[in-house]
Amino acid sequence: MNSILSVSNLSKTYNNIYALNSLSFECNKGEIVSVVGSSGSGKSTLLKLIAGLEIPDNGKIVLKDKPINDESIFVKPEKRDCDIVFQDFSLFPNMTVDENIYFGKNAPNNKSMVGNLVSLANISDTLSRYPHQISGGQQQRVALVRALANNPSLLLMDEPLSHLDSALKEKVRSELLSILKKLDMTVLIVTHDAEDALTISDKTIVLNQGRLEQVDTPRNIYKYPKSEYVARLFGKTNILPLKLMPGSKHSFKQKSSDNKMVSVRPHQLIIESGTNSSLPKIKGQITNIFNNGHSYNVEAKCEDLVFMAEIKNGSDLKIGETVTFSIELD
Ligand code: ADP
Ligand code: MG
Repeated sequence: MNSILSVSNLSKTYNNIYALNSLSFECNKGEIVSVVGSSGSGKSTLLKLIAGLEIPDNGKIVLKDKPINDESIFVKPEKRDCDIVFQDFSLFPNMTVDENIYFGKNAPNNKSMVGNLVSLANISDTLSRYPHQISGGQQQRVALVRALANNPSLLLMDEPLSHLDSALKEKVRSELLSILKKLDMTVLIVTHDAEDALTISDKTIVLNQGRLEQVDTPRNIYKYPKSEYVARLFGKTNILPLKLMPGSKHSFKQKSSDNKMVSVRPHQLIIESGTNSSLPKIKGQITNIFNNGHSYNVEAKCEDLVFMAEIKNGSDLKIGETVTFSIELD
């Protein structure tokens, strides 16, 4: 593997509290790595440290075999071979799109590449306009092109999709992915949205209070979370006791009780017509049913445990009845 970024034991405190705590990971050439975690888990701090906008307390950052941070080295932000796209895009409001794009130090020397980027990102029509005269999706692409115009070895993006409304977001996300993959760009992208991580990244790093909680492909993390924190970050789920599913290989200990638990997504619960299957089962009394248009979100109770199931053929279900749900883990 061709390592572009190597972070080891990176720590940063603010007022004696760890924003990042001894974090280590790698990004390889052409890899899109997402950084996921709840608010305040240290995601933006990580990007700022790599960009050189903050100074770490400890640890080492190596970019393309060149140390840019360790005990004795601090390479200035403008000398680092990486560029950052901020959440609010940070376009200069008093400059046209064209001037924004050519602002970076390397851009004027890369005119033909920048021209290609402009057409790839489909913003040729906007070049003479000011940022407030273009749409949110266009602003996002201009910010992207401005960063890429510098021809960095590593692109850092901090929640670049969070300001876009949901209709636009999906489109912009797929455009973004296609541009980055065409360029074989190495990217570290912060998001709090599991769907973003699942859709665009090859690898995901999950942060919890500044520590590395899990690193894997986003699909593996979705399916086999290592903790309740990770399971919940990746969307709706039920945290059920392992004793209900003795065969499951993917349990974790619950912090509060030390009990072993398994994350079961609502769509993994089904109501079987046959009764002899060997799948694990949980009985529940239905307490609520919501028709979401294409299936039924069924809330049920088993003793003190409330859980949610997403059932395709749920039109016959009734509140108050007790049914047996089978758990389809794969
Ligand atoms: P995230 O991007 O995951 O929401 P941040 O990296 O912004 O999290 O913040 C991590 C922690 O560090 C938070 O507790 C935050 O309050 C704290 N923090 C970040 N920047 C500063 C700062 N400049 N001064 C003091 N505390 C900060
Ligand atoms: Mg942040």
